[in-house]
Formats: sequence, structure tokens, C-alpha cells
Amino acid sequence: MNTRKILLSENEIPEAWYNIVHDMPNKPLPPLHPGTKEPIGPDALAPLFPMGLIQQEVTQEKWVEIPEEVREVYKIWRPTPMFRAIGLEKALDTPAKIYYKYEGVSPSGSHKPNTAVAQAYYNKQEGVKRITTETGAGQWGSALSFACQHFGIECEVYMVKISYKQKPYRKMMMNTWGANVHPSPTDLTEAGRQVLAKNPDSPGSLGIAISEAVERAASDEHTKYALGSVLNHVLMHQTVIGLEAVKQMEKAGDQPDIVVAPFGGGSNFAGISFPFLRLNLEEGQNIRCIASEPSSCPKLTRGVFRYDFGDMVGMTPLLPMYTLGHNFVPAPIHAGGLRYHGAGVVVSQLLRDQLIEARAHDQLECFEAGVLFAKTEGIIPAPETNHAIATAIQEAKRCKEEGKSETILIHLCGHGNFDLAAYENYLSGNLVRHEITEEEIQAALAELDTPTID
Ligand SMILES: *Cc1c(COP(=O)(O)O)cnc(C)c1O
Repeated sequence: MNTRKILLSENEIPEAWYNIVHDMPNKPLPPLHPGTKEPIGPDALAPLFPMGLIQQEVTQEKWVEIPEEVREVYKIWRPTPMFRAIGLEKALDTPAKIYYKYEGVSPSGSHKPNTAVAQAYYNKQEGVKRITTETGAGQWGSALSFACQHFGIECEVYMVKISYKQKPYRKMMMNTWGANVHPSPTDLTEAGRQVLAKNPDSPGSLGIAISEAVERAASDEHTKYALGSVLNHVLMHQTVIGLEAVKQMEKAGDQPDIVVAPFGGGSNFAGISFPFLRLNLEEGQNIRCIASEPSSCPKLTRGVFRYDFGDMVGMTPLLPMYTLGHNFVPAPIHAGGLRYHGAGVVVSQLLRDQLIEARAHDQLECFEAGVLFAKTEGIIPAPETNHAIATAIQEAKRCKEEGKSETILIHLCGHGNFDLAAYENYLSGNLVRHEITEEEIQAALAELDTPTID
């Protein structure tokens, strides 16, 4: 009989996060000041983040101890299970072995609480009373609401107004955990009031919501700001996923040839893949790590590597990254978490050095993959997650053509139980193919006047 489920016990929750910066052959380039364009140091971040997290943002230490209080909260859902995808393998009639690591068992249903809990903890340590953040579809806002509730910190979420209206369940989750959720733009901030003065019916955008959350944190000494992806410390917190997965693959008596994960800003991809990349960098192994992105927002496969802003307004430090330009507005595809113009600095450098790969998929292909997964494995994946499943299916088909029995590990980073409207759209034939043209990409990039990198 085949093993279907590979479990770890509570005492196998990792004791330290893995910091890949220590092992990178080329270290990330420094962030630049948005005005002077000179390199900035860690203290520039002090108004927004607690020192504990700023230190993690810049450290090159290889292992960073996970505080006992954080490991205690992790025990609510960690270690997460790994499964052999026997049903999917059969349906594809492939000699490849497919496994998946499932983060949908967390309280908010994705990988995001792994960093939300850590971030809330370090804020609590430094006496922070309130944390602000932005959220689009609501995955990050709900994870942070859960984490803040646990540590007795007030949570203020600026949710893009159109999502607030269209996706009420995520908002209700946040309210249940005690968070204040505002439809952004609001009249609580200067940034919001400016937008409303021009357009009282503005549907909002992630860029506006970020500006509001940052303004609130910058103007109150007891309030800090939190980000759910992109930054080094966020990527590092997520490595608990891959550290567990390495142990689970060992337990299964197997080793992945390929690790695939969806890519928005890079946090879940980093989480599962960095501990496997460590084996490549340290032991000379050759595990392929593939980041899967939407063909409508293809920053890794069709963007440029240069300095760009993290937000759309141009307030954040300039970061060296793969980007489509901070003015790029992706089509409203049904994978909200992947509609980001840029990518984390560490993942960008790894791609530039060809230590990881990237692949883009159309949303129809992704939903087809997600529905096949739901039918064969039971779990309905988040629309973001479907991108990784699409890549895995391509690889499993290649294995069949080449007669190879490779092992593929999928990161099933979240369930899609709050995204059923997107599935309904797909099932009723209303989703359209979407690939952006080279002209659209060139037009967005032509607007960039940020520093280039040779
Ligand atoms: C937020 C989110 C993503 C995209 O963000 P990353 O930082 O790239 O991981 C992908 N999948 C799910 C389920 C998410 O909630």
C-alpha cells in the first residue's frame, strides 16, 4: 500500500527559521532612498516596523531562533500535513510521483499566519498597541487579525473598497477575530481624503490602501505597520514550511526533483523552496524550484530586473527586483494574491542568478488544473495555488512523454473555500483567456524612471 499522508509530531516544528541570504553567492543589492536614491540603512524603517523585525530584515545570520511563544501558537496548526497525490497521479497516468504540502489547515486557510504570528509577537515585545495593514482579497488581513488577537494587539485593516463589497466573508472573519476593517479609501487619512475629494466613488486599490495603512502607522508612535509578503523577514518566517517538508520527504523515503509554488510577492514560494535550495547550495544537489505566476501579471518571466517602488504611489524605498513597473495595472483575474507588479528582493536575485526558475500560466489553464485537483484529491485549492498545480501537471506530462519517474512537490499554500465565486465563474464558462501583449508590457516599463542595474 502507498502511504498517503506524511505527518510530523509537534516537537518536530522547526526551532529556527532559515535565512538563505547567508548562503547566496550574490547578496541582495541595498535598498535606495525614494528621493535621494542613495542606499539607506535599517533605521529608515524604524517608524514603521519594530526593531526585532528590522534586524531580521538585514541579518545574514544563517539560522534565526523561533521564539518559544511563536512555536506555541504554531502548534495550533503546525506541523502541517504532506500528502502523496495518488488520485492526481492516476488521473494523469504519469510515472512521476507527486506530493503536496498543505498549508490550508491554518486558522485563516493559507500560509500567511506563519509570518503574521511572528510579526505580532515582535510588535508585542516592543509594546506596540496597534498594527495597521492593507488587504486586497482579505487573506493577509485575516491572518494578521488572528495573530493580533492572540497577542492582544489592536488590528486595523484597510481593505480595498471593491473587495470589501464583493467579498464580505473575509471581512467577517477579520471582525470575528476583533479587527477593525475599513473600506479604503477612507476619510481617516490624508491619502484617503485626497482620493475621495477627486472621486467620491473610488473603488480603491491596493496602492491607496497601503498609503492609508502606512500613514496611520507613521503618524502614531504606538502604531506600527505590517506587510504580508516581499520583505526578507516575511520570506524567512515562511521557511518553517520547507523545513518541515524536507523532514517529511525524508520520512517518505523520497526526495523531490522539482518543487513548485505560486508566486505573488514570493513568500510562500520562498517558504517551501529555500530549505530545498539550501541542499543545492550546500550539498550540490540539483532540485529544480519553479515559481508559477499568471500570464496576465508575468513579472518574473517577462519583467525587467531593476530598482522599483514596492507600492504604486512611490513612497516606499526603491528595491532591486523583477518588475513590470509600479504603475502596471494587471487585469482583474481571479487570483488576487498574484496581482502584484514586483517581487521580493531575495527571490529576484536568485532568479537573476538562475538558481530558481519561473513559468507563467493563463487563468483558464489554472482553473482546469485546480478543478482536476479538487476532483482527484478532494481539496479545493485557492486560485493562486492553481498556478503551481498547472506547472506540476505540465511537468508530470513531460515525465510521461520521457518515461521518467521524477518526484514533484507542490506547495498547496491555501484552500479556495472563500473563492468559490471564482470557481462558479469558471464552471459557467465566464472566465476568459488573458495574456498581455508585448506592447502593454513595454508601455508600463517605459514609464519607469527608477535606477537601472547592469
Ligand atoms: C497571499 C497569497 C499568495 C501570494 O503571496 P506570496 O507572498 O507570493 O505567497 C499565494 N497564495 C495564497 C493562498 C495567498 O494567500
